[in-house]
Amino acid sequence: LFISFEGIDGSGKSTQAKQLARALEQAGHEVVLTREPGGSQGAEEIRSLVLEGDPDRWSAETELLLFTAARRDHLERLIHPALAADKIVICDRFADSTRIYQGTRSGDLRNMVDQLHDLVIGREPDLTFLIDMDPDTGLSRAKGRGGTEERFEDFGADLQHKMRAGFLELAQQFSDRIRVIDGTRDIDTVAADVLRIAREAVGV
Ligand code: C5P
Repeated sequence: LFISFEGIDGSGKSTQAKQLARALEQAGHEVVLTREPGGSQGAEEIRSLVLEGDPDRWSAETELLLFTAARRDHLERLIHPALAADKIVICDRFADSTRIYQGTRSGDLRNMVDQLHDLVIGREPDLTFLIDMDPDTGLSRAKGRGGTEERFEDFGADLQHKMRAGFLELAQQFSDRIRVIDGTRDIDTVAADVLRIAREAVGV
């Protein structure tokens, strides 16, 4: 079973991914909690190449190729083996992030994103939680956290609003697997909602 969490920076998706992993472990499941960009050794190296240093080092197209290569490595080395061993994989971001971040950032690369996905990734999570939140709230929460790899300076508030709208459109496009969760509520309320929906949707 493959579950992903998506959302803009500061939406709280990483906290929710951890909470769900803990709840499912307590219920006796074997869980692998992982993240993108990254999640395997090679993919983490690519993450550093893209997120650290000069933001203009890569063109948008090259960045997309690097993130796609990272995802392929993550799938081969970690996700596929874990799923084959009947573990539950919970991934903090997956291909939907690329559809939004690389797909809508500079010009419209969405076609290229979709073609590359079909060519080298070719699978979606069984269930995706979109932790939805107004970008102004998300940005102030993420800034307060003081991460070094965050990209809001490159992205800015306008782009974050565009990306939120993009995620909500994706939720309609993939309504079979994406559930929109109101991330403005307190952490435990959101976590209880996520667990209930996971139980209903995929029977964990
Ligand atoms: O989710 P996380 O905080 O680890 O993401 C790190 C940074 O990488 C964020 O600022 C996010 O906006 C950016 N990112 C990106 N393209 C992706 C995934 C994440 O630019 N496909």
